[in-house]
Amino acid sequence: MGIDRNEWGVAKGCVREYGHFIDGTEVPSSGERIERHSPATGELVASWPTGTIADVDRAVKTAVEAFEDGRWSGLTASQRSEVLSRVAVQLKNDWKRLALIETLETGKAIAQSADEIPWSGDMWDFAAGQARALHGDAYSSFGDSKLALALREPVGPVGIITPWNYPMVVLAQKLPYALAAGCTVVVKPSEFTSGTTLELARILREAGLPDGVFNVVTGYGNPVGQRLAEHPDIRLVSFTGSTATGRKIVEASAFNMKKVVLELGGKNPNIIFADANLDAAVDGAIKAFVYNSGAECCSGSRVIVQKNIADKFISRLCEKLDSIAIGDPLDLATKMGSINNQPQYEKILKFIEAGKNEATLVRGGRALPDRGCFYIEPTVFKNVPLDASIAKEEIFGPVIAVMPFETIDEAIRIANDTEYGLASSVWTSDLATATRMARKVNAGVVWVNTFLDLPSEIPVGGVRQSGYGRENGRYAAEEYTVIKTVVLQDPTAAARYLD
Ligand code: NAD
Repeated sequence: MGIDRNEWGVAKGCVREYGHFIDGTEVPSSGERIERHSPATGELVASWPTGTIADVDRAVKTAVEAFEDGRWSGLTASQRSEVLSRVAVQLKNDWKRLALIETLETGKAIAQSADEIPWSGDMWDFAAGQARALHGDAYSSFGDSKLALALREPVGPVGIITPWNYPMVVLAQKLPYALAAGCTVVVKPSEFTSGTTLELARILREAGLPDGVFNVVTGYGNPVGQRLAEHPDIRLVSFTGSTATGRKIVEASAFNMKKVVLELGGKNPNIIFADANLDAAVDGAIKAFVYNSGAECCSGSRVIVQKNIADKFISRLCEKLDSIAIGDPLDLATKMGSINNQPQYEKILKFIEAGKNEATLVRGGRALPDRGCFYIEPTVFKNVPLDASIAKEEIFGPVIAVMPFETIDEAIRIANDTEYGLASSVWTSDLATATRMARKVNAGVVWVNTFLDLPSEIPVGGVRQSGYGRENGRYAAEEYTVIKTVVLQDPTAAARYLD
């Protein structure tokens, strides 16, 4: 049974129409609009402008003016913190409507969106504290007449570019930290899922954020994202998305040597030792590729299982998968909704076809057109060679490649046999195994006996081609600052160059 949409705040048939958000107001679109249809049902749910280079330039000019006149960076940290806290409260109060909008645009299960909005609110809450905790350093070891300071200053106007898989969560990993540091911002959300970013703009205005500090330009990667990444007045770009686009961002950033923070793709190992609690490991392995329909940058898409339990593990996994509710994202009982968009749906099906020639299909492998527009069964392959495309490339869908190992050294070798390095999970009851794996796996995050466990306090981010820079935790706020060194000399005691 689906939720009552009126009670959740967006009636059936309601098409939300947005403009860009610049200088505290909605700016109507001058040209074409992007129409968003629910990927689950095909229903038209929202539209927003197809932004242009002129729209980006206008938003950046606003953000530059707002930065330079100090209307935000010139406030005390405590004043900035108060605004961020009010946003956190509003996200927690208005979670139902925002969760519904998120689900209508992404196709993800409503129960999951209902977690993600308060989770985003928690990050805003944490970042509010970070605004006050940010500080530099002092050096007092040069005698009585000299002091040096390392000041942390906001980096300047920031560009944020987000993907379609977690519109609110990904934004919450960046925006409140940029604001905490005193930066002004222009955001380009995904062309598929811009609604909640524009809703957030209204929340920020109501929370007392000065006009011009937060701006949104909707539209396609090229030109809107590309212009933002190239823009000479943007001092930092924080990007979450594919590694291919990340490369373009780095190239574009070279124009003015702007700082770049990149959260990119992954082909993450989920490593299961024979001594693991099998029920917990099976549950974790399912979450690691079914959650968000597998459109999860940390997805455990390579399942590396100790050989002596591999058959038992696979049969237990397949048995449990039979009980997963796949279908209407607006039903609170649904665990897996639809794939977010048609190009992604077609890409996943292509990988599944390739996998059928590369490995053994154990379960799934089909589209589910009876459920709605873009549904795909959770799909399990075994006997996957290490060089198979489904073992190497990020699929970003509900597909896993199961690979066996015998020794811990072999597990480490297979886990690290990837150009990526975002996340990893290890399932074991042995502390020595857990410790060794935690040190040897090349990834930004190693979860032991847990998966996608991301309290706002802890930093996340990748190594290798999964990107650089960190989000969440105190490191996130520091990313949006630059260090300025100040050396203070008592003029009466200064050493003379000419003496
Ligand atoms: P994508 O790279 O296609 O798009 C991401 C964003 O970049 C969108 O807003 C898009 O419009 C924009 N964009 C596209 N071309 C651009 C260009 N030339 N210049 C500037 N911006 C441009 O990614 P996607 O398909 O939206 O998201 C899926 C990818 O995101 C996956 O690879 C996934 O692993 C990754 N992801 C990573 C994390 C993480 O934290 N590491 C989190 C979520 C998603």
